[in-house]
Amino acid sequence: MRRLYSGGWVVTCDDAGTEHPSGWVLVEDGWIAAVGAGEEPAADERVDLGGAVVTPGLVNTHHHLYQTLTRARAQQADLFTWLRELYPVWAGIDAEAEYAAARAGLAELALSGCTTVFDHHYVFPRGRDGLIEAEVQAARELGVRIVAARGSMDLGASDGGLPPDELVEDVDAVLADTERIVAELHEPGAGALVQIAVAPCSPFSVTRRLMKESAELARRLELPLHTHLAETHEEEAYCRELHGCTPVEYLADLGWLAGDVWCAHCVHLSEGDIDAFASSGTGVAHCPTSNLRLGAGVAPVPDLVGAGVRVGLGVDGSASNERSDLLLEVKQALLVARGRGGPGAMTAREALRLGTRGGAAVLGRDDIGSLEAGKCADLAVWRTDVLELGGAEDPVAGLVLSAPHRVDRLVVGGEEIVRGGALVQADEAEVARAHRAQARRFAT
Ligand SMILES: [Zn+2]
Repeated sequence: MRRLYSGGWVVTCDDAGTEHPSGWVLVEDGWIAAVGAGEEPAADERVDLGGAVVTPGLVNTHHHLYQTLTRARAQQADLFTWLRELYPVWAGIDAEAEYAAARAGLAELALSGCTTVFDHHYVFPRGRDGLIEAEVQAARELGVRIVAARGSMDLGASDGGLPPDELVEDVDAVLADTERIVAELHEPGAGALVQIAVAPCSPFSVTRRLMKESAELARRLELPLHTHLAETHEEEAYCRELHGCTPVEYLADLGWLAGDVWCAHCVHLSEGDIDAFASSGTGVAHCPTSNLRLGAGVAPVPDLVGAGVRVGLGVDGSASNERSDLLLEVKQALLVARGRGGPGAMTAREALRLGTRGGAAVLGRDDIGSLEAGKCADLAVWRTDVLELGGAEDPVAGLVLSAPHRVDRLVVGGEEIVRGGALVQADEAEVARAHRAQARRFAT
């Protein structure tokens, strides 16, 4: 089955940054067969895009889907205060709530043009099984590609950690459960719809032993490694007190500065830290809205990109960025870069690249993130005849600068999962209703 998407402004995000103002994308059996302009290839089906912009599907590199259940809490708190208020609420999570939360969060992301979602789940109350399985099921039903992290916390308050003792786990149990989930769910190789990552939560909620043994496990199973890092000044002070060094020095000591690792936030990095990330190949998930919402600061993204660091974008959890809209995050990345470094700090196309190619690189995926022959057929189609794009002679810059927008059509592995701005495989109103019913269980 060959389907031709034609008559669109095709933004390939290939190495050369090629765009075809009147171009086409040929999709065959879930993969991109060809991209171009001019004479169209033969196809079984032809879809006229009517001048819409076509971009690679966006790639989200940091999230906590369960947090859609607890939005707009601790509204003016810093990170540690916010976490202390929310940990006891999150202790109520179970598979039913996780499923509803994931459906809502993934639906919202899909409608913002996101085809691949990384989720970092690290709250595992005792006796509540099936949490990762629930979010993977939600992703499969909606048709979104997911990289689900088996996160973890093992440093409770009584040992000097931030989370309450009832939310931390035993190291051996974490590692055994991670291996079990990998065996059950992880798909290796190009085109994978479900992958698993290993992700101990943060320097202030995880022991050295769990950090080290998580890395050993991930490297044995060839899985990517992820954690939170250098988000706030408070975290740095905590790290100095607990470990006697900065968060980045701590990571280096653990063998975590490496090409199979990416870290969320990285707001507070020195020039030396940026060099260490660049020389080791360590990646960064930039989450500008969450960092602004918690007053944490702004990551030095143009400096990171300039040094050659892999950088992707993340909406982060919905309790610290109440909106799971990745195109909005593309715009936000541009705005915070300019707020910090002036109008020349980042172009609209550079921001879009962070949300596509950058995200794919951060997740260690070379099968997604650009529109090129041989890549997964993951496409986002954006209408240009909407109110907010009128007068935008450059529709690509207009798309970013006037974001957010609801995606018109979203294709994942050749399957259309959004059409006409609506979910194809779920009823949006029903997803929202089911989510509200579960969220009521977490009311205080
Ligand atoms: Zn996070």
